[in-house]
Amino acid sequence: MSSSAACIFCKIIKGDIPSFKLFESDKIFAFLDIQPLSRGHALIIPKFHGEKLTDIPDEYLNEVLPVAKKLAKAADATDFNVLQNNGTIAHQVVPHVHFHMIPKPNETEGLGVGWPAQATDMDKLKALHEELKSKI
Ligand code: AMP
Ligand code: ZN
Repeated sequence: MSSSAACIFCKIIKGDIPSFKLFESDKIFAFLDIQPLSRGHALIIPKFHGEKLTDIPDEYLNEVLPVAKKLAKAADATDFNVLQNNGTIAHQVVPHVHFHMIPKPNETEGLGVGWPAQATDMDKLKALHEELKSKI
């Protein structure tokens, strides 16, 4: 695993900082968020230090969604969001990749989302589609 001595989540993985651990494997670690948006709000982190999703090898990501399912079921969450922020402007605060599982029990608790949808522009979408397909 790749680790950063200064990183708070690397310290949690090592046990140098305590956490309310919910799940651990050789590739990932899951624990309760210390400032939850709702009951059961939990974080899943790869055991590989990287700031953004694009920095993490695929093998450290394979278990993330299966574990998000386990966490949602354990919290009896029927409505919930899985969220992963990349970059300060995208609301990332801790610079070690983490996936939130945030139960949404009602309108006020859990995640609130702004969704500034743009008007549909078929010509732009077609051009973008061609560009992205050529790069994937
Ligand atoms: P983000 O804005 O996506 O970077 O979210 C960072 C999350 O990490 C926040 O929801 C914090 O409450 C949570 N967090 C920060 N420090 C800790 C910690 N020591 N234990 C558990 N959760 C933490
Ligand atoms: Zn780290």
